[in-house]
Amino acid sequence: MAGEAGLCGLCVWADVIRSGRGSTFLRCRRSEAEPQRFVKYPRLPRLECDGFEAVSKVMP
Ligand code: SF4
Repeated sequence: MAGEAGLCGLCVWADVIRSGRGSTFLRCRRSEAEPQRFVKYPRLPRLECDGFEAVSKVMP
């Protein structure tokens, strides 16, 4: 989903939600604290976002 979602697919604030019918949604957790700035379900792909924070990869 990362490539299809643009920035959201690489962001620590994104949660992937799977519906019972097999659809996949991406929910932005920043919308909980700042609903005026961020929508709960961003339109994808998101190419620009002030709230973006990259997921850091942890090496095993
Ligand atoms: S903060 Fe921006 S880039 Fe990150 S999940 Fe929310 S809308 Fe997507």
